Amino acid sequence: MIFMSENIIDIANEIMDGAIDFHIHAYPDITARIQDMVEVALDAKKYNMKALVFKDHNTMTSDRCYFVNKMVPEVKCIGSITLNYSIGGFNPIAVEIAAKMGAKVVWMPSIDAAWTIHQVYVENKAKWIRPMIRIKNPKEGLSIFKEGFNGSSIRPEVKEVLSVIKQYEMVLDILHISPKERKVLVDLAKEYGIEKIVLTHPNCELGYADIDEQKELAKKGVYMDYSFLPLLPFFDRQSPEVVATMIKDVGYEKSLLCTDLGQTINPPPVEGYKLFILHLLASGIPKEWLLHITHYNPANLLDL
Ligand SMILES: [Zn+2]
Repeated sequence: MIFMSENIIDIANEIMDGAIDFHIHAYPDITARIQDMVEVALDAKKYNMKALVFKDHNTMTSDRCYFVNKMVPEVKCIGSITLNYSIGGFNPIAVEIAAKMGAKVVWMPSIDAAWTIHQVYVENKAKWIRPMIRIKNPKEGLSIFKEGFNGSSIRPEVKEVLSVIKQYEMVLDILHISPKERKVLVDLAKEYGIEKIVLTHPNCELGYADIDEQKELAKKGVYMDYSFLPLLPFFDRQSPEVVATMIKDVGYEKSLLCTDLGQTINPPPVEGYKLFILHLLASGIPKEWLLHITHYNPANLLDL
């Protein structure tokens, strides 16, 4: 078995060299985090990682990336914006400002998404995210549809956001909206000429996408960004073999890896990323696939 052999560490280190983590949380943040952005970047530098994408549920991260890039120039720190109420929801002006400030990823609403609130308070899922959720009424929350997450009429401001994403060639991440919203938004984004689309953590109980949906989205060009967070004890306790099977079914050409780490009870993000690689190697994902998934695919999406 590969995990009994010593050189699995060497292989993981080789993959770390040049790898990109597409989703990290760090200070500054209003939620407790295990490290700040500079500390994560310094850890990444030790492994010669190429880039890190930082997410904040409440604001953009591109402004603070300016400082991290100055302090740790060896690792490219990439900003993003999340469309929660704190920035005005589907606010095209906020997206444009983030883009001008260097943000490359636009995340759909997360803690304020109507689908998140429904999953947590109606379906009783993902208890760990409850402390972060401000809105408790499942009838409220942000949806791309006027009628809520199962609706059909797209809010005009969502279309304006798509125009800005296209104009600045940003990545659209459809995480945390409902399966119906994901499908409609991907089709609409393609009408706007948006080709860089990602679905983060389809392997998580929160925002889960079954394998048929994953394959259907991947066929339309959407990348599946598998996350390490659901594997951890306080989260979904998912076996790495579940992710390995998803990667085999979807294909390494449309797979990405991220940690979604930064929580105080989990390993620091960079160590988590290496653990994820080790677990996937031990689950039978070949080194060549992992190089494609952690280097080529994200670099392509982020123009690196
Ligand atoms: Zn996250």
